[in-house]
Parts: sequence; structure tokens; C-alpha cells
Amino acid sequence: MNTEAVPSPRARVVSGMRPTGALHLGHYHGALKNWLRLQATHDCFFFVADWHALTTHYEQREDLEKNVYDMVVDWLAAGIDPERVTLFIQSRMPEHAELFALLAMSTPTSWLERIPSYKDQIDKNRELATYGFLGYPLLQAADILIYKAAQVPVGEDQAAHVEVTREVARRFNRVYERPVFPEPQALLTETARLPGLDGHKMSKSAGNAVAMRDAPEVVEQKIRTMPTDPQRVRRVDAGDPARCPVWPLHRLYTDEATRAGLEQSCRSAGIGCLDCKQPLIEAIQREQAPWRERADDYLANPKQVHWILELGTERARAVARKTLREVRAAIGLNY
Ligand code: SF4
Repeated sequence: MNTEAVPSPRARVVSGMRPTGALHLGHYHGALKNWLRLQATHDCFFFVADWHALTTHYEQREDLEKNVYDMVVDWLAAGIDPERVTLFIQSRMPEHAELFALLAMSTPTSWLERIPSYKDQIDKNRELATYGFLGYPLLQAADILIYKAAQVPVGEDQAAHVEVTREVARRFNRVYERPVFPEPQALLTETARLPGLDGHKMSKSAGNAVAMRDAPEVVEQKIRTMPTDPQRVRRVDAGDPARCPVWPLHRLYTDEATRAGLEQSCRSAGIGCLDCKQPLIEAIQREQAPWRERADDYLANPKQVHWILELGTERARAVARKTLREVRAAIGLNY
């Protein structure tokens, strides 16, 4: 793998993911699938946002390293290609922290305090009233600007964060009278929100997730025991897919013709719920098979994963250092 930062004609995107450990199907359909699309069209810098995890969970040291590597294995298992994408770990890049500190000098605190999620979160949890949590959108700005990203893939709810990054870039360029930073565009991405086994948002902590690398028999057991339409108590009762937590999964995994048949059979009590779940179980197992195969290779050779991150970190560092030289020169710190 080449560690040189080769100029790329493709637009650069930067995106990070907090290290939550092994990923589930919600992560895959909500974020990773989009990364897979982007790696074919953009110059992608994808990183493990472990400092960001500390902004909200600064006391949870245990499992941090394991969570980082479990997550990266899942990225690679899903098909993220380290030959095409720069993969790295945020905390291995002190350059981000330096830019964060330098940007902090000229960023009004009011810009950070007014971010909607900030107020909501500290109202709910006073433990979050820390300097790190207030500064996290600025750290995110540093993560993006240090690579002069043209675009940042975000869901609609995060568009405000990219706006702050744009403001920070504008202000820096104006204060120091040099166009160091381009203003990145939000690349609004449509992502599927996958419900969990209980119909609520899929999350590991809620215990309602199907992991990307769950064994086939585990997937089968999890889906077979999923609750269905609460009004369909007996096999002979007619059901309504609109009331059934299984149905949103069918929407994602089952083709339209099969779904139409299942819907009709549900409404007429023509099939039982286990019959209805079977094609879903098989579709999920089919999707997972190549992931498990690729993950097995990486798990058998953990050094390879470390090496991939090592090379990606060096590649990222070359770009970050170049930007920092420009930043220091603009501020007058190049002595
Ligand atoms: S038949 Fe399918 S859609 Fe209808 S209640 Fe059972 S699992 Fe849900």
C-alpha cells in the first residue's frame, strides 16, 4: 500500500465513526453502505473517532481498544477497501488536536453553545457539561478542515455541525487574511433507519440488535423470536403488517413481489408469522455471508488490521502536516 498522499481528482470526503465495538445491521444500513458507495466515487478519509467517544464517555476506558479493532474489522468485512480509502485512528493524529487548539482561539463559544444538540444533551445529563463536550463540534471542524475536505457526508440532523465547520473556516480565512481552508459542503445522504428486534431504533445497549457478524443460527433465533403484530395472537387471526415490527425489515430485505404476497397472506391469515419471517432470515444470512468470510481472514491475522491502520495514519498525517504548515504560517507561528 502506498503511504504517499497522492493528489486526487476526486472530491475528498471525511467521515468518522465512534468506536462502539462490533457493528450491527443498523450501522451497516445507516452509515457503512454509504461509505461503500463513496469509496467508488470520492477520495475518502474514514477514521475511528475515539476522541469523540471520550467527549461523552470519558470514564469508560475498558474495552476502548477492543472496540476500535472490532469496528475496523467490520468496516473491512463490509468491503471498505484500504487500497482506495485512507483509514486511520483519530487519537493517533495529534495534528487534529493542534488544529483544534488553534481554531479555538478565534471561535466564539456562542457558536458552540447554540448547537441544538448541545443544549438538549446537557439539559438531560449535567455530567456532559464539560469543556470537551462543548468543544466537540470544533474538534469535528478540525477533523474535516485539516484534510481540506470538499464534502462531509451527513444525515439531515447533523447539517448544523457542518455549518459550524464552514463558519469556522470562513472566520479563520478572514482573521488571518489567507484562504487556507475551503468551506466543505454537507453531502446529505439518504440512509435507511433500521429498526431493532423490538421495533425501536437498533442499538447494542438496547439489546435489540443483529450484529453484522452474528452466526446464522443466532440470526435465525433472533428473528424467529421477534414480536409481531400484537393483535395477531393466534395463527388464525388476521394481521396487519403496519403494526408489525418485522415489516420494516422486510421493506429493506425483501423484493416487492414477495412482500406483496406476504402482506396479502398476513391480512388473510394465510401464513403463520414464522413462515413470513423465513425469507427475511435467509436474506439477512445471505447478506452476512461475505462479511463473515472477510472478517474471519482479518481475525486470523490481526497484524494485518494494525498494519492497514498504520499505513492509513501515515497517509493522513502527510496531508494533515501540510495543512498545519499553512495554518502556522497564516497565524505567524512558523518560527
Ligand atoms: S405474518 Fe408477517 S407481517 Fe404479519 S404479523 Fe406475522 S410476521 Fe408480521
